[in-house]
Amino acid sequence: MKNTDYQSAASPRGAAVAIKVDIVVIGAGQAGLSSAYHLRRLGLEPDKNFVTFDRSPRPGGAWQFRWPSLTLAAANHIHDLPGLKLADVIDVDASGEVQASTVVPRYYETYEKTFGLRIHRPVEVRVVCDRGERLRVETDAGLFSARGIINATGTWETPHIPDYPGRERFKGRQIHTKDYRTPEEFAGKHVIIVGAGISAIQLLDEISRVARTTWVTRREPEFRQGPFTQEAGRAAVAIVEERVRQGLPPTSVVSVTGIPVTPRIEEMRKRGVLVRHPMFSEITETGVRWADGREIEADVILWCTGFRSSLDHLAPLQLRGDNGGIIMTGRLATQVAKDPRIHLVGYGPSASTIGANRAGGAAARELAAFLGLLE
Ligand SMILES: Cc1cc2nc3c(=O)[nH]c(=O)nc-3n(C[C@H](O)[C@H](O)[C@H](O)COP(=O)(O)OP(=O)(O)OC[C@H]3O[C@@H](n4cnc5c(N)ncnc54)[C@H](O)[C@@H]3O)c2cc1C
Repeated sequence: MKNTDYQSAASPRGAAVAIKVDIVVIGAGQAGLSSAYHLRRLGLEPDKNFVTFDRSPRPGGAWQFRWPSLTLAAANHIHDLPGLKLADVIDVDASGEVQASTVVPRYYETYEKTFGLRIHRPVEVRVVCDRGERLRVETDAGLFSARGIINATGTWETPHIPDYPGRERFKGRQIHTKDYRTPEEFAGKHVIIVGAGISAIQLLDEISRVARTTWVTRREPEFRQGPFTQEAGRAAVAIVEERVRQGLPPTSVVSVTGIPVTPRIEEMRKRGVLVRHPMFSEITETGVRWADGREIEADVILWCTGFRSSLDHLAPLQLRGDNGGIIMTGRLATQVAKDPRIHLVGYGPSASTIGANRAGGAAARELAAFLGLLE
């Protein structure tokens, strides 16, 4: 079946005939590509035994949308996908000063072609419903009927902004990390940056060079001295894994690891911009106010307050408990305990490039075995 055949087979839009497949992989970022690669290695054929949909216009997952100044050097670390090294595709010099939004999509595109993964894009999965023995997968390119799902839809499309009183009153501009492009648009302004994660600090660094900044965080940020060992990484992942096995909403792995003190952070300290203020209690028309009555005026509030898992299309399956979490099981906690036909990869403990790699392998094997697709 050709790469576009699913689209034409399903048209005209709205036709009620569902195309049957064993597995639908939803999303083709690091987690979806790893899953598709492992399904292939298990002997399953793309477009025959499984089909992969991605709603983005081009290869690259969320990396294609990252802000231009996010270079490979500035990123945490982008782990190689299984079977093909980034360095074999892209000539990255030691400085790493290349845009992640250019390089990673090029790498993923080569990856898809090298392994013949046949990603269908842009195809959005709108909703998945339980139809007894099968799952009904409604896309904007037609209807599919699957026996299992590997969901790899990431977090980029679900930015999180916490609710503070007065948010709607503020007459200045409010944006989320997701909307950030370059510091120049803030030149000469006063920007309040909210958040204690790596993105907040990177954007504080950039914006503070051209604008006045005030940095606020809910909790005291945890800086980590010294190199980040593999053991520390594993311990952090284990904490998040334990949470999702208990059905608690996942926290980000970085929130557990702390922020590594890089030369860039040392330099920010010297420049006097790494001054943290506690969280304000209220947003006013012109700025923010703290509980003790102190107020400041600002032109922009930049919310670097993270993302949530993009799972709205799975809502009819009612996977979430009352606390908003999903009880996960399986070797790497990718399998939904309530419905073993569904795996979530890039979720919770696997929400990193290395975690996504491993989760893709575990989900592919477990789901294929569960559905009796292995010889
Ligand atoms: C600013 C930022 C920087 C980061 N830096 C690092 C880093 O340096 N190292 C690291 O390991 N991790 C980093 N992460 C975490 C990173 O997001 C993951 O590591 C990884 O790239 C996510 O891969 P993914 O496949 O889970 O999701 P994504 O890359 O988000 O891919 C999900 C794909 O699913 C598609 N999709 C979504 N919904 C649907 C739908 N309904 N139907 C069809 N397709 C859909 C999307 O279009 C997208 O292409 C960073 C995250 C952020 C926000």
